[in-house]
Formats: sequence, structure tokens, C-alpha cells
Amino acid sequence: AKNGGRNQVRFFDPDLQKVLESRAAMEADLRRALDAGQLQLHYQPQCDVERRVIGVEALIRWLHPERGLIPPLEFIPIAEESSLILDIGCWVLNTACRQLAEWQKQPSMRHLQVAINVSAHQFNTHDFIKSVQTAISAHGVDATALKLELTETVIVNDVEAVKAKMLVLKAFGVKLSLDDFGTGYSSLAYLKQLPLDQLKIDRSFVRDIATDPSDEVMVKAIIDMANNFHLQVIAEGVETGEQLNFLKLHGCEAFQGYLFGRPVPASDLNFMVEGG
Ligand code: C2E
Ligand code: CA
Ligand code: CA
Ligand code: CA
Repeated sequence: AKNGGRNQVRFFDPDLQKVLESRAAMEADLRRALDAGQLQLHYQPQCDVERRVIGVEALIRWLHPERGLIPPLEFIPIAEESSLILDIGCWVLNTACRQLAEWQKQPSMRHLQVAINVSAHQFNTHDFIKSVQTAISAHGVDATALKLELTETVIVNDVEAVKAKMLVLKAFGVKLSLDDFGTGYSSLAYLKQLPLDQLKIDRSFVRDIATDPSDEVMVKAIIDMANNFHLQVIAEGVETGEQLNFLKLHGCEAFQGYLFGRPVPASDLNFMVEGG
């Protein structure tokens, strides 16, 4: 400001200051939580048309000593604002690979695919490929069972660079899924160029398929498009038999949602797959 320090005080906003302070406190708390082992992965089943569990998605939770289980939407956005998301991403990758290695030793579980969420920030770091390769070899997992869920935000910039990275991952055997499909702005021309294995229909479209004609049209279009591009399509957030029937009728072959099971700790899933 042109009148120097005095005038700047006017811009001091106590409410904003509070928000910033609480964010900083949350970030520090989160870093401590990571070091103290308070982060956990829960796993939600992904099923085929016969309701067989074909895979799971790893979803992060924070088991806070006072506040209990904190869902990811309350802390991932804060982590995304700093390099903390990279440390969390690395922890997720290694924790999921350690679990996958365990499952690959058990006959009833060895067929499972494990999908993890990768933030765009993490995907775009120069050593992302190396961290995936290291996790795969350190835990001795079959890479073809590992799936990375990416969002359209990874491809806003340099499509060629993203494509090159994806091709290296594909060469390891890793599978690639495009998460929250339909909610972003990426063009179909981009999508067509990328070596994806799967499109994931966002929960917001699935929720209203029976009641909102525009969501119905959207879901049909996504399924058709996936089929035309020879991509598998999975619907997330399937809660009712009605939604499932609609999706099946229009050619969707994989499903995830409370109708099949909620995200649970690995030990509970073990029981569920063997018992079911
Ligand atoms: P997402 O990747 O779209 O994950 C799906 C979310 O939908 C999960 O919420 C899941 O619990 C929820 N869900 C699944 N089926 C149903 C259903 O039938 N009904 C309803 N109402 N919800 C359902 P969650 O676990 O709270 O995760 C929210 C978001 O947080 C994820 O959305 C993802 O963007 C992010 N996230 C979760 N884990 C990680 C992680 O390890 N790393 C990163 N970077 N982000 C993560
Ligand atoms: Ca996901
Ligand atoms: Ca989603
Ligand atoms: Ca709607």
C-alpha cells in the first residue's frame, strides 16, 4: 500500500486470520497424524454383474484420538495445499501395496484388484513413476493388480507429458482409471489419446438416474462412450437395486457402492469376501 505499514493494517481481517490459523493448525496436526500412524486405509468392494467382488478401492481415513474417524474430504483438500499431499500419497501407495502383497498370498483374495486415489499434484511430480515402481518391487506385488484412479485435473496442462507417463505405468502392468468422470471439463479428444483402462462414473450422476432425465442421458452417454473406446466402465455410489438395474440394462459391467458394501478395514473385508 502506498501509505506504508499503517494502511496495510486495514487489510488485516480477523476472520480470515482465524481461517488461516486453523488451516495451519490442521496441517500441522495432519503431519503429526501421518508420523504417528493415525491414518488408515479402508477398502470398498467393486463387483461384477454377478455380484462377485473383483476389486477394492482404498479410501483414506484419519483416526483422530479425540475426534474419531475423520473422512478424507475434511483433510485431503488441506493436504493438497502443501507438499503434505505428496507424503500422504506415498504412504497410501505403500500401505495399499503392502496390503495387496498380503492378499496375493491368500487363495481367496489373490484375484483382487486394488485401486488407489492419486492426486494430480502427486501424479505430476517428476519422481512419481519411480515411487510406483519402488512400491511395487519393495512389496513384491503383481503390478497388474494395482489400479491408479486419476481425475481429469491431471490433464489440464501438457497432454503429451501425461500420456508418456501413463505409458510407462502401463508398461509395468499398472491399470489406469479416470475417476469422477463427467464432472470435469476435459475434452473427448484428450481422453481418446490417453491409455486408460477404465472410466468411473461419478456418484452424482448415479444418485439421480431414476429421477433426473439429464442424469439418465449422461450415464447412458458415458457407458456408450466407454464401450466405443474399449474402456471398462464402473459406476460408483450404487445404493439401490433400481440404480443397479438401470446401469446393467445400459451395459455397465462393474459397480461400487453401499448396495455392495461400505468401505471397511482390510480385516473386515477379508471376512466378507471369504464368507460371501
Ligand atoms: P472418490 O474417489 O470419488 O471416492 C468415492 C467416495 O464415495 C468415497 O468417499 C466413498 O466412501 C463414497 N461412496 C462409495 N459408495 C457410496 C454410496 O453408495 N453412497 C454414498 N453416499 N457414498 C459412497 P470417501 O471415502 O469419503 O472419499 C471421498 C473422496 O476423498 C474420494 O472420492 C477421493 O477424492 C478422496 N480420497 C479418498 N481417499 C483418498 C486417498 O487415499 N488419496 C487421495 N488423494 N484422495 C482420497
Ligand atoms: Ca476414487
Ligand atoms: Ca467420485
Ligand atoms: Ca442431478
